[in-house]
Amino acid sequence: MFVQVALPIPKRSLFTYAVPEGMTVAPGCLVLAPVGRIFRTGVAWSLSAEPAWREGEIRPIAAILDETPLLGEELLRLLEWIAGYYLCSIGSVAAAALPGNLEFRRKRRVVWREEASIDRLPPSLHALADRIRSRPAGLSEETLAPHRQELKALLDHQAINVITTWHPRALPTDTLPEAAPLPSPSPPPTLTDEQRRCVQTLCAALEGHLFTSFLLEGVTGSGKTEVYMHAVQRCLELGRQALLLVPEISLTMQMIQRLQARFPDTLAVLHSGLSDPQRLRYWQRVRSGRARLAVGARSALFAPFANLGLIIVDEEHDPSYKQEHGVPYQARDMAFVRARHADAVLILGSATPSMETLANVARGRCQHLRLTRRVGGGVLPVMRAIPLGDPAMRQAMGRDGLLSPPLREAIAATLQEKRQVLLFLNRRGFAPTLLCYRCGQAIHCPNCAVTLTLHKNRSRLLCHYCDHCQDPMDICPACGQLSLFQFGPGTQRLEEETRAVFPEARVARLDRDAVSHDARHLQTTLEAFRDQRLDILVGTQMTAKGHHFPGLALVGVVQAETSLCQPDFRAAERTFQLITQVAGRAGREDHQGLAIIQTFDPNHYALASAIGDPGAFTPMEMAFRRQAGYPPFRRLALLFFSSALQPEGAAYCQMLKASLPPSADAEFLGPAPAPLAKLRNRYRWQLLIKEREGGRLHRVLAPLLALAEKLANRRIRVEIDVDPHSFL
Ligand code: ADP
Ligand code: ZN
Repeated sequence: MFVQVALPIPKRSLFTYAVPEGMTVAPGCLVLAPVGRIFRTGVAWSLSAEPAWREGEIRPIAAILDETPLLGEELLRLLEWIAGYYLCSIGSVAAAALPGNLEFRRKRRVVWREEASIDRLPPSLHALADRIRSRPAGLSEETLAPHRQELKALLDHQAINVITTWHPRALPTDTLPEAAPLPSPSPPPTLTDEQRRCVQTLCAALEGHLFTSFLLEGVTGSGKTEVYMHAVQRCLELGRQALLLVPEISLTMQMIQRLQARFPDTLAVLHSGLSDPQRLRYWQRVRSGRARLAVGARSALFAPFANLGLIIVDEEHDPSYKQEHGVPYQARDMAFVRARHADAVLILGSATPSMETLANVARGRCQHLRLTRRVGGGVLPVMRAIPLGDPAMRQAMGRDGLLSPPLREAIAATLQEKRQVLLFLNRRGFAPTLLCYRCGQAIHCPNCAVTLTLHKNRSRLLCHYCDHCQDPMDICPACGQLSLFQFGPGTQRLEEETRAVFPEARVARLDRDAVSHDARHLQTTLEAFRDQRLDILVGTQMTAKGHHFPGLALVGVVQAETSLCQPDFRAAERTFQLITQVAGRAGREDHQGLAIIQTFDPNHYALASAIGDPGAFTPMEMAFRRQAGYPPFRRLALLFFSSALQPEGAAYCQMLKASLPPSADAEFLGPAPAPLAKLRNRYRWQLLIKEREGGRLHRVLAPLLALAEKLANRRIRVEIDVDPHSFL
């Protein structure tokens, strides 16, 4: 027998191995396979009597990890589907899906050879030979360690065999990310009328046992999580399993605690801090049905449920569902595919649904459920725009000021009332860069075509792409003048200005840098802010996600342009979502919140609608997408290539351009230098592939990728991204 194994190696094919005598392998089993001189864990994909590959030596697989296949038929077909859709190998999809590398311990056993005869051996070996022969399963090598010389003699006489087997190392016991105190299991609250209607519809769909998909659109605080939990409850009662995808576990601890209280014995939290063996252990719990509800970030999509009845994608619009490296899958989109394969119900939840999902609603592929009111009658905040371009405002703020006079007044008034403030700026660092006010040159990374970012506490200039790091200088390297100043806002500078203006206030900052220095910083800061031991929280989008801060009355968006001015057709959508989400943190049941949005362009439709008329955004954005030929109306793919040598890459560009066949399915835009034209010492280009009206994108992609790879030499790297989210 031969087995095709998908290994977590980005190679374009399955690998053929022999199945040793006496071993039974089924598709979906995890196997240990030799690769060069090491062993890797892979998935047995298919079995055949003839080898699918005939060149060279076919090696046997070393061990099988699970007698019952870990991955079921449903999941194997999903992974195949994903490999086809994103044009990558099953091996690389397996790499995205599987625990990376599991450790094994080698065991050797000494067994008696049936055809051997004791009589032919010298008498000095008889005692040991007898002992081995009396044990049909053999003896372990360790037990026989004192008999080294005799074993060698027995081997020479061909009386024994030494068999090598591999065993997974002992798996550690389950641990949760934080020893969070469990809230006492409180009875579920009585649902509001809106919630009850949603739950009834969802339960009816679950009972129907067929694929059905829903958009649950509900403003922040409208009780979506409660609806999810009722749907999960019904799903479990029906004997099926449920999966809840969240953008990031560490930002979702509040929700996870609520789930733990409601479903204490049956929850598996698949977070990124799990080691590979731990992840495998959780997987086995999911596979065996001991865990019936799993929560995790995007890769939990691949958890091996035996009987999946419900998938919930919370904050479905969140960009973190798109994997950027390896297999560039969109977990929300693939949740659609998985739910369809599994005859499961899909719930996409959001306060600010993506255009893709709204288009699916319009096309009748998704039923629309709404929660229009906050639980307990809380009202949404008052929104107000502050035009930063206004000359009087600029004068009042000075060259480097980030807080406008109206925002300062609102902060002072809020602190006076003993309420809290959130200042949001979607850019970390102290200031983006050092800029020369004489010659206008900014300090750039020597490896990447981006400016270096100044980080205050480390007094360093850092590249956010390649980690290049250098000391800040005083003299402009371009013109030699002493004229460099700190240009542009960043959360660290915002924190400094806030502390200077409000010296009495208790201020904390939350962004990737603050969190990376101290693993507990995130949870302790969120808790301190929730418990009102802090007055002002300064932060990036980390603060914008589903937290509930009871004392928060004022949200200040310091510069809306940071997300708006991106070379990305989703920039307006992203800005609208961020502003709506972060503003939605302000105000609760007993008091109305205020959100102040500072911007250079208050008339931009994304801002104007977020501030004045949220319902107006979707029609305007859809009209723009349709007119410009972007998703969700036409699909896109991006072919990236890079070279360490600029002329070589440019020549390849010309060659590729000349070889592109005309197509009725798609148009080709470029190739052109990528917005980040140089990254980590490689020059980068991209070719945008845009579906034509009535065309089918996927008809051109495989031939295009094959052509691009055929034309490329070994030094040119080619990658493809289907439904890209990043255009840098
Ligand atoms: P969302 O996920 O839409 O932001 P949540 O489900 O987190 O909203 O609900 C917001 C708050 O309201 C939570 O504290 C939750 O416990 C509470 N809540 C939800 N539904 C009800 C209800 N029917 N009755 C009382 N409180 C509720
Ligand atoms: Zn760099």
